[in-house]
Amino acid sequence: MTKTIQPEGESYDIELQEDLLKAHQKIAEKNGKLLRNRGVRCIEIMGSIGSGKTSLLERISEKLSRHYRMAVVNGDLATTIDADRVGRHGVKVLQINTGKECHLDAAIVARAFGELDLKNLDLLFIENVGNLICPAEFPLGADTRVVVVSVTEGPYMVIKHPLIFMDSDLLIVNKIDLAELMEVNAKKLGEDAKKINPKIRVALTNCRTGEGVDDVIDQLQLSGKLRA
Ligand code: MG
Ligand code: ZN
Repeated sequence: MTKTIQPEGESYDIELQEDLLKAHQKIAEKNGKLLRNRGVRCIEIMGSIGSGKTSLLERISEKLSRHYRMAVVNGDLATTIDADRVGRHGVKVLQINTGKECHLDAAIVARAFGELDLKNLDLLFIENVGNLICPAEFPLGADTRVVVVSVTEGPYMVIKHPLIFMDSDLLIVNKIDLAELMEVNAKKLGEDAKKINPKIRVALTNCRTGEGVDDVIDQLQLSGKLRA
């Protein structure tokens, strides 16, 4: 057995952290209420840098922008690369630059709502900053949380980050075209997530080509308007 050191239970820092998370939770709940009142379906996309969050949003935007009044908010430390990419597909985009913050928080998202005409939106996607750790603890008020994992991140990406899967509704295993090359079993990543959270749904995609994106849209219960 490998010797392991873990953080000790009680410390001043932990109390401070709990207060902060409680205060944050309140803002997230307020965001959720505002979205419901305005009739906006809100989906948060989380995942590491390079997992394919922006590519997924590009493919989704291509398919849905003619059917829904939709907007995408992109979180990033400093660039507008992601918002520029998604903006090419006929959706309204808004960039949030977080500076040093490695995740979006509910307060900055509330400010973004002020910039969007929520009354005239059906659907809002929020791309969180590339990170699989802290977004888990900072819900933004979205009704659905999606986490994207790429097979290029290796076979242990899910079991090493249990917290984020506990609190997500849908896992997207992306870049499945590279699974064999990476010697990673894409389906196994989904099974790992279901062990952590039996309610999580799973979709397999290649967001570069669009393979599997229809299934994602189905699983998000957004395909009704496409068929109509
Ligand atoms: Mg991105
Ligand atoms: Zn963070």
